[in-house]
Amino acid sequence: MLRILIAIAALSSAGIAGAAPAPIIDMHLHALQAADQGPPPVAVCAPYGPFPSRDTRLEAATSAMAFFKQPPCAHPIWSAKDDDDLRQRSLAMLDCYNITAVTSGSPEMVARWQKAAPDRIIPGVGFGMGDLIPVARLRELHARGQLQVIGELAFQYDGVGPDDPRLEPYWALAEELDVPVAIHMGPGPPGAPYVPGLAAYRMALSNPLLLENVLVRHPKLRLYVMHAGWPMADTMVALLYAHPQVYVDTGVIDYVLPRAEFHRHLQRLVEAGFGRRIMFGSDQMVWPDAIPVAIAAIEMAPFLSAAQKRDILHDNAARFLRLPGALE
Ligand SMILES: [Zn+2]
Repeated sequence: MLRILIAIAALSSAGIAGAAPAPIIDMHLHALQAADQGPPPVAVCAPYGPFPSRDTRLEAATSAMAFFKQPPCAHPIWSAKDDDDLRQRSLAMLDCYNITAVTSGSPEMVARWQKAAPDRIIPGVGFGMGDLIPVARLRELHARGQLQVIGELAFQYDGVGPDDPRLEPYWALAEELDVPVAIHMGPGPPGAPYVPGLAAYRMALSNPLLLENVLVRHPKLRLYVMHAGWPMADTMVALLYAHPQVYVDTGVIDYVLPRAEFHRHLQRLVEAGFGRRIMFGSDQMVWPDAIPVAIAAIEMAPFLSAAQKRDILHDNAARFLRLPGALE
């Protein structure tokens, strides 16, 4: 089934034989080390379904990590074997599907990927409380053209909500520089609080309405909610309605969620009237093969028109990023 979906996505992206596929903007690519999710190879289910339960007789960390080595699904995808393999295979996917990608990671890693594919990479800088980047350093990167998006901001993994006073200088900087901001709100890996290193993760911080005071204090902030705030569809709709400048991306939920659940979330946002503020994201992390599965999840959505798919795969992001030639 998975192979069929990938083949269909490839076909529809490729269009007429020989022509370049219609362009895609991925708002959620990562330039990571191959060991970022644990020593390779590690697997992710694309998709999960059903999600595994945790046996409390086993030590918490052991059972959480078992999902990465013995994926509980019919369609696991395996991580790249080393850093070069991850970069080369991710960039090959960008070429194959004609993708330009907002890419987050450490400044050094993103610069390496950008050097290898200057036309494909829009540089971001990702961090959380553990690897906090000083505001002065962000200014410097911006001045050198190495910072076009601030994010992925991963404070949810530190148990820190967006309204925390320690984050205020970052919101102020993004507003001052007029640089878009990408914030993680939504799922970590299944059972995140029991995964070593992620004990501070709290699902409750996925609530998109936690952004409300930040947005009101910084009305010029150009912010998108990564993972579209899944599974908090009602509060996501509430935020989009009250704060018309906010966009979302579909990162990770488009390949790890059972397809019906991803489509239900996407359909809810589209039918609520926000189809022009949803942007495609892969969130491939250490799994380049996730990219075609993520594209297929949009291409195969039976409730989307061809124009709505184009909006999500490209046009909304072009408008949000104010790329030259973007449609209003
Ligand atoms: Zn994320």
